[in-house]
Amino acid sequence: MLGTRGRNATPGAPIGIDPSLTAVRLTQVTKKYGRGPSAVVALDDVSTGLPAGGFTAVMGPSGSGKSTFLHCAAGLDRPTSGTVQLGGQDLGELDEKQLTRFRRTRIGFVFQAFNLLPSLTVEQNVTLPLRLAGTQPDRDALHGVMAAVGLTGLLGRRPSQLSGGQQQRVAIARALVTRPEVIFADEPTGALDPDTADEILALLRQAVTDLHQTVVMVTHDPLAAQHTDQVLFLAAGRVVSRVDSPSAAEVKSVMTELRRTR
Ligand code: ADP
Repeated sequence: MLGTRGRNATPGAPIGIDPSLTAVRLTQVTKKYGRGPSAVVALDDVSTGLPAGGFTAVMGPSGSGKSTFLHCAAGLDRPTSGTVQLGGQDLGELDEKQLTRFRRTRIGFVFQAFNLLPSLTVEQNVTLPLRLAGTQPDRDALHGVMAAVGLTGLLGRRPSQLSGGQQQRVAIARALVTRPEVIFADEPTGALDPDTADEILALLRQAVTDLHQTVVMVTHDPLAAQHTDQVLFLAAGRVVSRVDSPSAAEVKSVMTELRRTR
C-alpha cells in the first residue's frame, strides 16, 4: 500500500471513498478468471467509491486489473464475489436482461476505437441509445448535445467522412445523450494524436464541470490523467494509491514507483 496522496485526501480514510457523494461503489470486489490452481485473480478484494459529478482516472501497470475494474464497475462483467452499486442499484440483483437495459439507460460508454456504426449517420449514431431504449429523441436536447461537443452541422455525415477526433466527439455525444449516471471511457484518446487527444479530454472535463456528468476513464497516459479530479492506481488487482487534483509529474512518479515495486 503506497497510501493516499494529494491535496484533498483525508489521512486514514479508505482510498477513493466519499461517503456523501458516490456514483459507483465497489465493496470487496474480487474477480477471478479460471478455476483451481491456474485461476488468475484480476481484482483482489477491492472496496472503493467513485465520486458523483467527478472525473476519475484509473491507472496502473499493464495487467494490474484496470479493464477488469472498468468492466465490473460498468456491469459489463460480473465479479466473482463482492458487490457493485451504481446510482444506488446493486448490479448483482439484476438478471441479464435487466442489466442490459440498465447499461443502455443509465451508463454511457466511450471506447478507444470509437465503435460507431459505419452505415448510420452522425445523428443516427448519437440517438441510437435512445431508440434502443424505446424513447423518442428530443430535438432540442439533441441539438444541445451536438453543440456541446462541437458537431453542429455534421448530423448528416457518416463516420467515414469524419476525422478521428470528430468520431470520438460523436461517441461522446452518444454517451451523453441519455444523461447517464456515469460515463465509462476506456483509453478514449488511445487512437488520437496528442493535440486531438487534448481536445477530447477537455471535452470530457467540460462534461463534468458544466453538465455535472460523472466520468470514469481508464488511461495509461499521465497527460490524460491530469485533466481528472482524482486518479486511482491499481497494482496486482488492488487499489494501492490515489492522487487528487493530479499533475502529470505526480502521476508519472507514482507509475514509476508501481512499475519498480511490481
Ligand atoms: P489491465 O487492463 O490493467 O492491463 P486486465 O484487467 O486486462 O489488466 O487484466 C488483469 C489480469 O487478469 C491479468 O493478469 C490478465 O492476464 C488477466 N485476465 C484478464 N482478462 C482475462 C480473461 N478473460 N481470462 C483470463 N485472464 C484474464
